[in-house]
Amino acid sequence: MTNDDGINSPGLLALARSLARIGEVSVMAPEREQSGVGHAITLQKPLRINEVKLDAPVQVSYATNGTPADCVILALDGELPIPDMVVAGINAGANLAEEILYSGTVSAAMEGTLRGITSFAMSVNAHRYCIFEPAAEFAARVAGRLAETGLPKDTFLNVNLPNLAADELGPAVLTRLGRRTYQNILERRVDPRGKPYYWFSGNPLEQDASEGTDIGAVVAGNISVTPVHFDLTSHGAVAELAELLDGLVE
Ligand code: MN
Repeated sequence: MTNDDGINSPGLLALARSLARIGEVSVMAPEREQSGVGHAITLQKPLRINEVKLDAPVQVSYATNGTPADCVILALDGELPIPDMVVAGINAGANLAEEILYSGTVSAAMEGTLRGITSFAMSVNAHRYCIFEPAAEFAARVAGRLAETGLPKDTFLNVNLPNLAADELGPAVLTRLGRRTYQNILERRVDPRGKPYYWFSGNPLEQDASEGTDIGAVVAGNISVTPVHFDLTSHGAVAELAELLDGLVE
């Protein structure tokens, strides 16, 4: 298990407790929050790992100064026995549509998949007052099933839940990624020494929440399960580009 909210996040703890009921769990997670770091890996500084006590019946848990993708690499190449599965989360905040490009949580699952290990990511659609229990329960059911079936090659699951209690939650549905456009806010401030600094934030402006999308499922109160792979080739554009680039490419 890993995450991007850090070793002390309640979502990680809920997931560890739930998965420990069905299997042996080891944790390698960032010592601090790493939300938004995407698939970054650390090449310019040493990585440290420190064993920490987690209030869950896990085999072992480590906090690292690395990113979520680093955590997967550290676990697979270094300090832990090779796992049957990589599970990332539970993230506080949904990872829907193009957000998966920025998400450390989703990237950790992708890193597991790149290494040929059955992987999935779990997120809940709230940043505060998160209801993690239904997601933790569902993760254990998913892990139990995937332990038997595995996943299609190069594919992992990106799971998002609305922030609802179990009895308000709709069914789990298979989805595709939707689309969101953001109003990006770049705040310019001035520090006490007179130098400017900048702080990003943003709000979703428009979204494709149409039927079959991950956003649509979560808005409707359902659990969204999106199969994701890392082939970013625009397969549908190849024929059109052959015309657009006629004479330039063969
Ligand atoms: Mn996060």
